[in-house]
Amino acid sequence: MGIINNLKFIVDNNVGKLTKWLRMMGYDTLFFNGRDDAYMIATALAQGRVILTKDTQIVRRRLVTKGQLKVILIKNDEPELQMRQVIDTLNLNCQLSPFAICLECNQPLVKRSKEQVKDLVPPYVFQTQSQYMECPACHRIYWRGTHWQAMTKRLDKFR
Ligand SMILES: [Zn+2]
Repeated sequence: MGIINNLKFIVDNNVGKLTKWLRMMGYDTLFFNGRDDAYMIATALAQGRVILTKDTQIVRRRLVTKGQLKVILIKNDEPELQMRQVIDTLNLNCQLSPFAICLECNQPLVKRSKEQVKDLVPPYVFQTQSQYMECPACHRIYWRGTHWQAMTKRLDKFR
């Protein structure tokens, strides 16, 4: 089962692809729609989140220069290189935690028994999988199927 990591993030919409990567790794990660920088900064400060952005203006803010707020200024356009920068800067271990956080809505997942998901997953999944997690917000069910294997392969590249 996944572990929810201690670091928390808020991802600016100019580097939005990082959101799912970080959630796959078990990090509590908010996606910010990019409208109001002040709101993103206030949220990061109140919740102790690291800001990921390409916006050079944010890095110049006094809260950042004084070290009260951690911001990583992303330099590359390519999502995999962006992810590499985050991993290297924070020295993250690239442990995949696919059963920790909902990839869609950032909610911690809840364990479900096989019986509980019987009518919620395709029959072939029910027959072959024994471990399930459910998102309490969107009710998506997660299991170690082909999607999980694809995610593992992609994250392996960062190790
Ligand atoms: Zn969800």
